[in-house]
Amino acid sequence: AAQGPLRHTRACIDLDAIDHNLNILSTRVPGVKLMPAVKSDAYGHGLVPVAQTAERFGVEMLAVATAEEFLILRDQGLTVPVLILGELFPEEAREALQQGARFAAGSREYARFLSDCALRLGVTARVHLNVDTGMGRLGLFSADPLQDLLDIAALPALHLEGLFSHFASSDEGDLSFSQEQLHRFQDLLQGADRAKVPIRYRHIANSGALIDFPSRSSYDLVRPGIAVYGIHPSDQVSQEMPLRPALRVVSRLVKITSYDRSWTVGYGRTWRVKAGTTVGVVPIGYGDGYPRALSNRGEVLIHGRRVPVMGRVSMDAITLDLTSIASRVRRGDEVVLLGDGIGAGELARLTGTIPYEITCGLSVRLPRVYL
Ligand code: PLP
Repeated sequence: AAQGPLRHTRACIDLDAIDHNLNILSTRVPGVKLMPAVKSDAYGHGLVPVAQTAERFGVEMLAVATAEEFLILRDQGLTVPVLILGELFPEEAREALQQGARFAAGSREYARFLSDCALRLGVTARVHLNVDTGMGRLGLFSADPLQDLLDIAALPALHLEGLFSHFASSDEGDLSFSQEQLHRFQDLLQGADRAKVPIRYRHIANSGALIDFPSRSSYDLVRPGIAVYGIHPSDQVSQEMPLRPALRVVSRLVKITSYDRSWTVGYGRTWRVKAGTTVGVVPIGYGDGYPRALSNRGEVLIHGRRVPVMGRVSMDAITLDLTSIASRVRRGDEVVLLGDGIGAGELARLTGTIPYEITCGLSVRLPRVYL
């Protein structure tokens, strides 16, 4: 075939699933607009194709972390508004200012820097003030956030377009801290209202909030990330939304060996096979982002059957115990490593991380194919 990568090991991304998820999320709260997070290569799904899908869907804005991510979108011809969530150094901000990015600002100093820089360039910096309501990271931490907001809004080349905050634990069963964060956010919004500062976009909800307390956390915009990709942020949020995982990672059996005596397989000799064991080799490894921590723990699907990953995951290969399906497998058979019921959540649990790290961790070597 003329299209598609040479390599059979690949990540297949179903853009219809992304569209479906955007639709589900946009109807969660009537009238709410979406700002999907497409940072980190759209959580490993591919920045540009996902952003194009979101633009076609009609999202209000996209969220990225870096100026480079924003510039790639503009280079590729996307015109949808984009908010850069990360705080930038001067050299990083200049081009993005010229090309009309929105900037998250979490301090007076940074807001002043953006305004000064915009003034010199003869443009206006469109800013969303990030207020720290309990995340303790990039947001404005201040004894008098309203005064800061007023001062920032008065900066000469700056237009205060948005006010937002970020939840620290909206994916946990206990939502009391999220409630506290909402109160603090609400206080500041009311203050801004009383001071007659017009703010077009107010936003705080991430996936966890949009899933578990949508109506209280949706203002003008919501910022789902992981849910856009059809993945729940954790096991502790409601699993009832009909999200569709967009990502499948597949490969093929490249070698099958039946051992007629005891032998050891792989680095560190962690797997000793008995006579009669059938071992399959799949050409994927931690060099592709398949976690090494799945050594002797993971499972994959072949012909719809789960088989265990045995021995160490190496850079370019994993080994499977195929003994239970030995009579039915052939070289070239498809192996599903992620998808079809093996969720990013399952791999995360097995490796002591979160589903975000599983999808973001898929490396550049793994070709992305779009359906
Ligand atoms: N908003 C901000 C500021 C973020 O940093 C993130 C991602 O970490 C999101 C929204 C999206 O979060 P989630 O993927 O949990 O929906």
